[in-house]
Amino acid sequence: MRKLLLAFLLAATCLAPLMAGPYDGGPSLVVLDPGHGGEDPGAVTGDVLEKDLALAFSLKIAEALEERGVPVRLTRSDDSTLTLQERCDNANSSELPAGGYPILLSIHMNSAGNSTASGFEVYTRLPGHDQQMLDEHASDSLALTYASYDNEELNEACFSCSEDLAGRLCQAFARRFPSIRMRGVKSSDLWVLNASWMPAVLIEVGFMSNPDELERLCDPAFQEDFADLVADVVISLY
Ligand SMILES: [Zn+2]
Repeated sequence: MRKLLLAFLLAATCLAPLMAGPYDGGPSLVVLDPGHGGEDPGAVTGDVLEKDLALAFSLKIAEALEERGVPVRLTRSDDSTLTLQERCDNANSSELPAGGYPILLSIHMNSAGNSTASGFEVYTRLPGHDQQMLDEHASDSLALTYASYDNEELNEACFSCSEDLAGRLCQAFARRFPSIRMRGVKSSDLWVLNASWMPAVLIEVGFMSNPDELERLCDPAFQEDFADLVADVVISLY
């Protein structure tokens, strides 16, 4: 019996590396995508533009991640105009350490006709909305990381990693900001999620159309708290 147990443990140990998925062990790069920019202001409330808030949050998240030793890449770090595909190409072409993988966080602010709408929500791509996971923009290192998986496996693993990440962000937000409405994880047919070949989520931090939320979104102290929260969630993936 003991021999059997030993044989089982040995087999399990030997098989473990083979069974590791493409997204095990935490990301080797976080691609931060501040929504909109340049000619595209995003939502506008008074003189506050979504593109500026998205950049302010993203720069603070980048700083919080770097403080924790996590490599970061920004799709834009100034007020430049980028197409959705350019954001994805930027993320997909990231060079990584051997076996590494990136995640993408696209940062946005919400807006609604009804000024009482409020809360935090995170989007993943639609379940079952499989994509060809590599194109000519993919970096050699990403292609190498993915080489031992077929497209269906990659899509499945990518979707479940994105869902896990979105769930962790919502849980952490609800714990840190219990008085703010939690709208939870949603899925949508969004270009930036569909065309990035990595676990990806789009975060709507809050509603610019709600006066209380707008005040909070513009508050550098809230931006920093939120950045720490996101960085801690990324660390929890390792
Ligand atoms: Zn937006």
